[in-house]
Amino acid sequence: MRIETIAVHAGHTPDPTTGAVTPAIQLSTTFERSPEGALRGDYLYTRNDNPNRRALEQCLTALEGGADAACFASGSAAAAALCQALEPGARVVAPDDAYYGTIRLMRELFERWGLALTLVDMTDLDAVRAAVDARTRLLWVETPSNPLVRVTDVAALAQIGRRAGAHVVVDNTWATPVLQRPLELGAHVALHSATKYLGGHSDVLSGALVTAQRDGLWERVRGAQVAGGAVPSPFDCWLTLRGIHTLPWRVRAQSESALRIARWLAGHAAVSVVHYPGLESHHAHAVAARQMRMPGAMLSFEVAGGREAAAAAIGGLALITRATSLGGTESLVEHRILVEPPDTKTPPGLLRLSVGLEHPDDLIADLERGLAAVARR
Ligand SMILES: *Cc1c(COP(=O)(O)O)cnc(C)c1O
Repeated sequence: MRIETIAVHAGHTPDPTTGAVTPAIQLSTTFERSPEGALRGDYLYTRNDNPNRRALEQCLTALEGGADAACFASGSAAAAALCQALEPGARVVAPDDAYYGTIRLMRELFERWGLALTLVDMTDLDAVRAAVDARTRLLWVETPSNPLVRVTDVAALAQIGRRAGAHVVVDNTWATPVLQRPLELGAHVALHSATKYLGGHSDVLSGALVTAQRDGLWERVRGAQVAGGAVPSPFDCWLTLRGIHTLPWRVRAQSESALRIARWLAGHAAVSVVHYPGLESHHAHAVAARQMRMPGAMLSFEVAGGREAAAAAIGGLALITRATSLGGTESLVEHRILVEPPDTKTPPGLLRLSVGLEHPDDLIADLERGLAAVARR
């Protein structure tokens, strides 16, 4: 089946007791035993498992082409479960431009428990080979990256990780399984902040891991999920699954609009650089064309004139919403320097754009309005 069909049907069957086509939200935290002590179904207690969570996990397993999935209360909780599944002393090699929350999680929470973190530029495969050692248990990949939308070669990195005996995890939040399938490219685990494209409506916080095989690491991930308890509520699972039904069509339309907008921005005099894998000027345009079905709906651009000029441009927008996060139906723009850590390498004039489902002509007209405000400064 194609991904559009999987997104509608996986984990989704009419309720056998009522015939309801849309699944009920199963709020019960506990499940009854018979006088003999037997459980009626597979459910015991909702932290262990719940019908809505299981439906979402089945859908995600099918979307990524994996063997199993585990859902969490957020993308960060999913990342934490992977770290909790490691032995003390394990090394994690991660990109130097990984999602800042992931680096912070490893530094603030897990380094104290003996995790060794090495950050490396993953566009440089020799640097990755040199960073991976005998202690390395996880090779953490994130592509496209935040906020420079850099692309790294998942198949090549998976080979390096596998040769070293490390598990390869790909944060697939930005690309989604619609555009990029890390498990097919050789990764062991795909990670999602389902808060973004999977949920897709900026109204639910959730996360997930999808594994290619049920191995020892996966058993410990399940342990972290069930014993740790950072699980999504039944309603969160229901909302996420409902969002996924339209995921392939949303992402395609958003990616098409992003390409149009990126080309338009690249021709604008007030814009010095556009970072978007769909442009031939992108540092890894060929890698992106090989491993992604479309270049995605995230782009960033630098306003000529730096921080003040970018502030004027973002202030002049009337339609695109100024807010953090991404992947919703509404376009969001963020002046990254305002949220980056003090030692950031992000250019001060950089604006990050999550392209939504508005008509691209309306988005371009709004960007035109914003960039006109730079000239009037
Ligand atoms: C948002 C995000 C996360 C963290 O997810 P939360 O759901 O906010 O905890 C991790 N990775 C990437 C790439 C993200 O964009």
